[in-house]
Amino acid sequence: MPKSASPDTKSMVLAAAGAKDALWSWDVASDSFSTSARFRELLGLTEQPLRGTPEDWFERIHPRQRDRVQRVVERFLSGKGGVLEVEHQMRHGNGRWLWVSVRAREHRTLDGTVTHLAGSLSDITGQKAHEQKLLHDALHDALTGLPNRTFFINQLEHHLARARRTPNHRFAVLFLDLDRFKVINDGHGHLVGDRLLKELADRLGQLTGSDHVVARIGGDEFTVLLVDVRGRQHALEQAHRVAEELRQPMQLDGLELYTSASIGIAMSDPKYARAEDLIRDADTALYSAKRAGGGTVVFDAKMRRDAVAAVKLETDLRRASERNEFEVFYQPVVSLSSGHVIGFEALVRWRHPVRGLVAPDDFLPIAEETGMVVAIDRMVLLQACRQLRKWKDLFKERELTLNVNVSARHFLLPDLVRETRAILGATRVRPDDITIEITEAVLLDDAEAGASVIKQLNRLGTRVCIDDFGIGWSSLSYLTRLPVQSLKIDKQFTQTMLSSDEDHKVVQAIVALAHSLNLSVTAEGIDGVGQLARMRELGCQRAQGYYFAAPLEASAAEELLHSDPVY
Ligand code: C2E
Ligand code: MG
Ligand code: MG
Repeated sequence: MPKSASPDTKSMVLAAAGAKDALWSWDVASDSFSTSARFRELLGLTEQPLRGTPEDWFERIHPRQRDRVQRVVERFLSGKGGVLEVEHQMRHGNGRWLWVSVRAREHRTLDGTVTHLAGSLSDITGQKAHEQKLLHDALHDALTGLPNRTFFINQLEHHLARARRTPNHRFAVLFLDLDRFKVINDGHGHLVGDRLLKELADRLGQLTGSDHVVARIGGDEFTVLLVDVRGRQHALEQAHRVAEELRQPMQLDGLELYTSASIGIAMSDPKYARAEDLIRDADTALYSAKRAGGGTVVFDAKMRRDAVAAVKLETDLRRASERNEFEVFYQPVVSLSSGHVIGFEALVRWRHPVRGLVAPDDFLPIAEETGMVVAIDRMVLLQACRQLRKWKDLFKERELTLNVNVSARHFLLPDLVRETRAILGATRVRPDDITIEITEAVLLDDAEAGASVIKQLNRLGTRVCIDDFGIGWSSLSYLTRLPVQSLKIDKQFTQTMLSSDEDHKVVQAIVALAHSLNLSVTAEGIDGVGQLARMRELGCQRAQGYYFAAPLEASAAEELLHSDPVY
């Protein structure tokens, strides 16, 4: 410990020589500048020493920061004193830029005149780089390097503010979502999924150029801020160009992958106060595009109302489930050889306290999206099996089977087979008395998984039928690869086959193919005697439709069994 409280100058010179920070002193009166050896070392000035005036320092400051530093110093000198602190960049002797932090105090005479300004200078280049990286990371997506949501919102706010000042500044927000990315990700693994996202991010970046902002804001969701958009049509054209580019196949690890994107567009408008509102509307438009099976859609106010209605419907549906407002109706299935009713298709109805009886097409899409359809399907299966048990006990001599619909989403859940077995056990219904109806959508998502569930149901003894056959995306040939037992010709064909020669041929072809594959065929939507006769001629085994009966309440279906009509 030093004995004296005021150290001698020599000690201080030694301390300065060993310090990590550089020291300097500016004698204001003589305008001369002294620096420690460390100062010169830090700035790499051993060869070309800093001359003795503050201008030499200022010359080395980054040109873009010089004015700012000058202002800070002047403000400090004309102020009440204290500590001067400023950060700026300075040129190193090797030409590179260093970030430095400067700290100083002034010294005054009794009348207040500043005589000296003296302090330290530290190299904070490493710290700055670290801060910049943190800032960059906070605003960018790690996988693709694209700006993230925060950055995007920030830019959007900036354009909104600009549009408020200059009303003819117009722009658009595109909200993109890849179609079926999950299938690629699950099917080929996450590494391939990641590389696909990177590749798409690159394409988006190149395509849109530097004026626009492309961001990744979720798993497979991207946003694009298109600037200088002339109008709705122009925005649509640009979006189509983006969609077309993303549709181009890509080669990854020897795989050729195809993907496409659905796009929602929101146009700038003075009504938007917040960036989030524009993004929300672009997202609503995207949702609307997705519901229509993909493509590009520009937002309009009706979509917002629909979205609000969908949320209300969802809340209502949850309540409906708690209050047991779902009921099962039964549409008779007629054997075309005997003419008797040989079973029913169970079809769900919602007995809404205000709206009355609601048809499944009005609520199942939302139930599918929210996953509530699983509970609905299960309830229908249970209720229908109880009913079948009752009818089997009542009409002991009759052959009676039941068809139950299962949504694509539900079908691929691991529990379906176990649940079905449990319900059959609890209601004492034989597995071969029920048939599960699925649509081609099941197989579109994951044909292999779909086929495996079909096999498991078959092992249980339950049959599987393809519903609405003919309107899907698949070719007839895929039927050969599926272990199903029957198919239902969609009512669209039944109803036009008498007037359209083509549809007649389609029906003929479906029946012929089904027979060659040993599948039985049911015709849906028979609403006239002519269709019935034609289906009989073609060799179709079963039929359903308003001609026989619409879906009926259980009591009415029971009456029908009692009266036992022959068609
Ligand atoms: P789907 O399984 O193809 O059912 C046939 C639909 O055609 C029924 O409509 C039925 O009422 C209607 N239909 C029957 N005969 C005729 C006819 O002669 N002419 C016309 N134009 N239509 C006829 P619904 O009951 O409105 O059901 C619509 C769809 O909702 C069903 O189509 C099925 O895909 C789905 N669905 C119904 N109940 C359930 C269920 O419990 N679970 C699941 N996942 N889906 C269900
Ligand atoms: Mg059906
Ligand atoms: Mg159908």
